Amino acid sequence: MANIVIDNIKKSFGAFQALKGVSLTIKDGEFVSLLGPSGCGKTTLLRIIAGLETSTSGDIRIGDKSVIGLPPKDRGLAMVFQNYAVFPHMTVYENVAFGLRMQKADDARVKKQVEKAAGLLHIEAYLDRYPNKLSGGQRQRVAVARALAVEPGVLLMDEPLSNLDALLRLEMRTELKTVLQEAGTTTIYVTHDQTEAMGLSDRIAVVHDGRIEQVGTPVEVYNHPATRFVGGFIGNPPMNFITMPVTNGQVAAGSQRFAVPAQGGEIVLGLRGETVERAPTGQGLDMEVRVAEPMGSHLLLTGSILGQPARVILPATETVKNGETVGLALDPKRLTWLSPESGVSYP
Ligand code: ATP
Repeated sequence: MANIVIDNIKKSFGAFQALKGVSLTIKDGEFVSLLGPSGCGKTTLLRIIAGLETSTSGDIRIGDKSVIGLPPKDRGLAMVFQNYAVFPHMTVYENVAFGLRMQKADDARVKKQVEKAAGLLHIEAYLDRYPNKLSGGQRQRVAVARALAVEPGVLLMDEPLSNLDALLRLEMRTELKTVLQEAGTTTIYVTHDQTEAMGLSDRIAVVHDGRIEQVGTPVEVYNHPATRFVGGFIGNPPMNFITMPVTNGQVAAGSQRFAVPAQGGEIVLGLRGETVERAPTGQGLDMEVRVAEPMGSHLLLTGSILGQPARVILPATETVKNGETVGLALDPKRLTWLSPESGVSYP
C-alpha cells in the first residue's frame, strides 16, 4: 500500500512561513495534483515529501509508516523534475536502468524492467541512442521511464512537462495519464497549469499562500469552488465575480429571481462564463460587450455586467458586435454564491 498522509506540515524559512499547516491524504494508486500560483509553497511541500527538505513540524506517512528523518532513497519513491536531467553520456537503455543499477538489481531484472518501462512510454526504438539524438518529448519520456522502471510505490513530479511545447505537452499529458493508471502508481504532481491539473488528476489540491484552499475532483473544484481564489484560479476564462444586492433573501437579475443564503446587504455571484444563454435584454443579466472574439470553437465576450468586469462564452454560431449590449439568461443550477467579506462560497 502506498497511500500518503501529509499531517499538518509547517515550514518556515527564517521568519517567512512557506507552509502554514498542510494536511492531505492521498489514496493508494491515486493521482493528486498540487495546483497553485508561483510561490504558494507546492514545490516546498513536494521536496518535504521526497526528503529533500525538512519540515519545521508535522508528519509524512507513506504506507502508514512515518518517513520523517528517512533519506530520500529509503522512502520508496521516484521523482521527475522540470529539467528532467537525463544523463547525456549514457544510452537511453542505461538512463532507464539507472535506478535499478543503484538498487544493485541483477542484469535479468534490469532488462525486464527497462523493457517494460520503455514499452509503456513507447521508447523501445531509441534504447541504443544517446539523449542528444532525441527530441525534447522523447527525452521527457526517458525521464519518466527511468522513474517508473524501479516500480516506485510513489511518484513525485514537479512541472515535468513545462519545458515542452504546447502540442507535445498535450500529447505527453494524455500519455502520462494512461501510463500511470496502468502502472497503478500513487502520484503527486506539482503544476501551476490548471488545464494540466484538470486533465490528469483524480483530485486537485489547490494551494494558496502556504495552505490548501480546497481538495476535490476536477469537476468539484471547477463547479463548486470553495473560495473566490479557487474560482478565479481554475477555468479559462476564470469565474466571474459579480456583487449584487440582496432583498428579502433574493437576488434579481432582470426578470430572473434567485433565492440566496443571505437576507439583505450584498452577495457575490460566481458565474462560469459558459453557463449563460443568450436571451432578450432585460430577461437575465445584461452585458456591455467591449470586445467580441470569435475563437472558432466558441465566441468569447469581454466587457462588463452591472459595471463589473466579466467574460462569457457563447456558441460559435452567435454573432455579437463590439459595443453591443447582450442579454444573458442564468442557469440557476450553475450559480455559486459567495460572501463578499470572506470570499468563501456558501455550501
Ligand atoms: P514555483 O511554481 O514558482 O516553483 P512554488 O509554489 O513551488 O512556486 P516554493 O518553491 O515552494 O513555491 O516556494 C514557496 C515560498 O518559499 C516562496 O516564497 C519561496 O521564495 C520561499 N522559499 C522556497 N525555498 C526557500 C529557501 N530555501 N529559502 C528561503 N525561502 C524559500
